[in-house]
Amino acid sequence: MKKKVGVVGYGGMGQWHVCSIAGTTYLNAIDFEKSDVCEVAGIYDIDPAKNEKARNDGYRVFDTLEDLLADKEIDIVVIATPNDVHESIAIAAMDAGKHVISEKPVTMSCEALENMIAASERNGKIFSVHQNRRYDDYFVGMKGVVESGEIGDIISIESRVHGDHGIPGDWRKTVEAGGGMLYDWGVHMIDQQLWLLGYDVESVYARFDYLTGVPVDDGCFIDIKLKSGKDLHVEICTYNFIQLPLMFVRGKTGSALVNDWKDSIHITRCTDWGDHDSILPTKTASGLSKTMAPRTDRAIESYEIRRPEVNVHDYYRNFCDAIDGKCEQLVKHDEMRVVMKVIMAAFESARTQQVVKF
Ligand code: NAD
Repeated sequence: MKKKVGVVGYGGMGQWHVCSIAGTTYLNAIDFEKSDVCEVAGIYDIDPAKNEKARNDGYRVFDTLEDLLADKEIDIVVIATPNDVHESIAIAAMDAGKHVISEKPVTMSCEALENMIAASERNGKIFSVHQNRRYDDYFVGMKGVVESGEIGDIISIESRVHGDHGIPGDWRKTVEAGGGMLYDWGVHMIDQQLWLLGYDVESVYARFDYLTGVPVDDGCFIDIKLKSGKDLHVEICTYNFIQLPLMFVRGKTGSALVNDWKDSIHITRCTDWGDHDSILPTKTASGLSKTMAPRTDRAIESYEIRRPEVNVHDYYRNFCDAIDGKCEQLVKHDEMRVVMKVIMAAFESARTQQVVKF
C-alpha cells in the first residue's frame, strides 16, 4: 500500500513535493509521473493564502499543524518551510508517530540536529533530509566516473553554482529564517562532495560575499580538506555574469568536467605519462613553455559521456523502503551530522577568517 504523505509548507518546494508525488504539473513547466510508493494525504501552511491555493489545487487542507499530525492515516511528514522551523516541526511530527523528511538544510545548528535525531530514535521513526541533488544526472554521471577509476585516484573536486540575479528576495535574505547561499545551495554541494569522497574532514576554510546589502551571505567559497589529502571546493555566487564550470574533478590520470546544467561529461585522460616532447611557442618571455604545452595525440584521449537517466521518485522509493526495513535510508544521520558540522565550521571560518580544524 502507498504511504500517505502530509506536506507542511505549500510554497515553492512544498508544491514541488506535492506535484512530484501526485504526478501533476509543477510551475506550468514540469510534468511529473505519479509516485508508485506514496500519495498526498494533505497539506498545512501557516499562510491562509497558501492553504487556499492547496484547496483550489484539489488537496485536503488541515486547519492547524496539530490537526495534520493527529491524522492517523498520515505516515510521512515532509517539511518544506523556511529553515528556522524545521527542528520544531520535525520533533513534533516524530513525537506524533510520523516518519519525517526535512527539506535541506536539515536545520541550523548541530544541537538542533541532535534534538531531531533523538526524536527519531526515541520514537523509532525514520528521519532524513531531502538531499535530492544526490540524484542530479550530471552528479550521478560524475560519481560513476570517479568510482570507475578511469581518471585515477581523485585529487580534488570543485563544484560551482553561479548566477547573476543576486540572492532570492524572500526569507532567504534574513538571518533569522536561515537565509544565505551556504544554507541554500552550499549544503547541496557539500553533501554531494562528502558523499562522493568521504566524511573524513580535517579542516574547513570559508569566505563569504556580501555584495547585495543583505545581512546573509549572497555568495560563499568553501575549501574542505579531507584527512585522505583530497581537496574539496564549493563556490556559490549570485553575482557572476560569466559562469564557471559546474563541476570539475582532477584525478591522477585524468580530468572530468561538466560545464553547466545541460552539458554532458567531458573526460580527458593521460595515456602516456612520459610524453614530454611538446613545447608551446609563445611570443613573450623566453618564447617556449613546456608546462602549458598540449600533449601529443598519442599521450592523451578525450571523450564525452552522456548524462545517465535519473528518476525523481528514487528518493521517496528509498525512504519508503527504509520505513519498511528493506534498506538503509539514503541520507544517514552520521552523514547529516558531518555536513552540519562543516556548515557550522564554514560560518565560523568566514567570521574569523581562520581555518577551522575538525
Ligand atoms: P517558500 O518561501 O517558497 O515556501 C515556504 C512555505 O512555508 C511558505 O508557504 C510559508 O507560508 C510556509 N511556512 C512558513 N512557516 C511555516 C510554519 N511554521 N508552518 C507551516 N508553514 C510555514 O520557500 P521554499 O523555497 O519552498 O523553501 C522551503 C524549504 O525547502 C527550505 O528549507 C528550502 O531550503 C528548501 N528547498 C529545497 C530545495 C531542494 O532542491 N531540495 C529547493 C528549494 C527549497
